[in-house]
Amino acid sequence: MAETYHDTDVLVMGGGGAGFRAAIEAAHSGVHVTLVSKGPLARSGASPMAGADFTLDGTSMNELGREGDVNDSKEKVFNDIVTQGWYLNNQKLVGQYVDTAKSQLADLMEWGIDITLSDQRAIFTSGTGIMDVLLKKARAVGVELLEDVSILELMKTDGRIAGALGLDVRTGEFIRFRAGAVVIASGGWHKAFWPNTGMRDLSGDGIAAAFRAGADIGNMEFITFCCNVFYAPPIWRGSLAPYILSLVCGGRMSDRNGDDLLSGFDPVLQQKGVLTEWNKSFLSYVSTLAAREGRALENGGIHYSRGDVDWGFMQMVGGVIFPNWKYKAIDFSTWAEKLEKNEPVEVGPAVEYFDGGIVVGDRFETTVPGLYAAGEAALGAFGANRVFSAVTEMLVQGRDAGRFSAEFAKAKKAPEPKRDAFREAEERACAPLSCTGGENPPAVRRNIQEAAHRRLGPIRSEGELTAFIGMLEDVQKNVLSNLSVSYTGRTYNKEWFDALELRNIVELLLVSAKSARLRTESRGVHFREDFPHTDNDAWLCETIVSRGEDAIAFSSRPVTVPHMTPPRGKTPYLEMMKTLMEAHSDTGGKH
Ligand SMILES: Cc1cc2nc3c(=O)[nH]c(=O)nc-3n(C[C@H](O)[C@H](O)[C@H](O)COP(=O)(O)OP(=O)(O)OC[C@H]3O[C@@H](n4cnc5c(N)ncnc54)[C@H](O)[C@@H]3O)c2cc1C
Repeated sequence: MAETYHDTDVLVMGGGGAGFRAAIEAAHSGVHVTLVSKGPLARSGASPMAGADFTLDGTSMNELGREGDVNDSKEKVFNDIVTQGWYLNNQKLVGQYVDTAKSQLADLMEWGIDITLSDQRAIFTSGTGIMDVLLKKARAVGVELLEDVSILELMKTDGRIAGALGLDVRTGEFIRFRAGAVVIASGGWHKAFWPNTGMRDLSGDGIAAAFRAGADIGNMEFITFCCNVFYAPPIWRGSLAPYILSLVCGGRMSDRNGDDLLSGFDPVLQQKGVLTEWNKSFLSYVSTLAAREGRALENGGIHYSRGDVDWGFMQMVGGVIFPNWKYKAIDFSTWAEKLEKNEPVEVGPAVEYFDGGIVVGDRFETTVPGLYAAGEAALGAFGANRVFSAVTEMLVQGRDAGRFSAEFAKAKKAPEPKRDAFREAEERACAPLSCTGGENPPAVRRNIQEAAHRRLGPIRSEGELTAFIGMLEDVQKNVLSNLSVSYTGRTYNKEWFDALELRNIVELLLVSAKSARLRTESRGVHFREDFPHTDNDAWLCETIVSRGEDAIAFSSRPVTVPHMTPPRGKTPYLEMMKTLMEAHSDTGGKH
């Protein structure tokens, strides 16, 4: 196989919003930028799937000519993000979000973003709309775009990033990149779970590669599950349509016996936990609780129906959000008929967003010189629970990561990557193609995904986490080196890609499950059945995971709270959730 070297100043891994925004900004700084996307450009990852709400303070919205709440302020947004994050937020990143969201929205507006409507502190557009604008801009500023290329491994020389190994998914050829700086913007690891709401290309490759290269990762136990996601019929599985409708209109959630799921819960939880974006953590918890009590339906979900919501109102809302009852190219007209007749559909929680990720500093630099991270791949601004906009986060972080990575690449001459390291990584990647009689990668993946949903879902316990960790350690030790594929060609070989991704999925699940087992409290999207209190005395800290020479080390890093100080002591989980919901500023809207 011929050796192909590809030279660039800044290599961006990921073709979602964070990656494109980073690439545009780096190119503005006058360096050569190459953006590599495993999936189709601007049509892969979570970004095109987003609704999408760009959320910022209403006053800034007004200053940009959009209608927002003029009494809203950056301070109120800051307060709301930190209380929604159960005080576990990196407050410097929250500050970066709050301070730069307005200029980011101004950029989008200048580049021609189509805004459908606004509320008190959010403008609504579409994920595909954002991506189309970014793609056009990236082309205009001369970003080199490589589609269907997967980065497998990062290369280091003398402790500093020197390049990366890529695989052309269509041809199966390796591409050796030499780069002065790398930005990881490869999103989350939705593919580790089933069901999920994400695209099939999100297997945590960037987080795992950064971790292998020595970057710290953190808060991996915090995984946001979206509630009321379709579980059945199979063709609708994973769609967010019922989540969106229930967020706007409400409706009835019930168990297999027809009993109301919410009766008995505090009225504040019932109200804010359904009609605001707190619904993700609250309803996912409630649905999982029902399943654990044996009250789930055939596929493990619950019933969602119109209940006492007026059909005329729901039809009107549905008509606005889902024109002709179509959403993301799926036809939901038969669901509309069920809604009208007040017949239920099966829904449930599905993994949507990863609150943890690669640890970054103020310049979005990681603990490895020359390596940067942004968007969902990074340990972001939202702490233990995301209610605010991940779309805004990916853009404001992408922009700064692009700027600082370009500065780094300009200031420091790139070292030469080691040829042996490339060769070893290539040989490791090719192993499943020559292994015979081993295990089938898609079958192994499916087993792991289902176990992850059960064991590492919104409700966890020591026993289940320990069993899951045992399963994953066994896979890591005995299965990963024994994966074989039925077709051994290299051209678009999906079984082979599954094998390559499994290594990352298993590693991240292990770190996540171990972090969840360590955190003996309940906070945000992490509920421990055996430790049902939020413990602000012992656990106001991030879980940081570092890779040593021989072993992985877990440590805790106290959260920095320069602006807001949380209450001390231990509080029952739902009581704390209610307190935090009520701590919301007086600005209305869903966030
Ligand atoms: C269904 C859904 C709906 C959502 N709706 C909203 C919403 O309405 N509002 C909101 O604020 N947030 C929403 N979110 C969250 C938000 O969309 C994401 O957090 C955000 O888009 C992440 O952007 P990103 O650029 O970091 O990653 P992504 O958009 O996920 O992009 C990752 C990119 O990396 C590429 N990649 C992955 N691995 C590799 C590799 N090995 N080599 C090269 N490239 C690689 C992928 O192909 C993809 O191009 C939603 C999420 C989902 C799943």
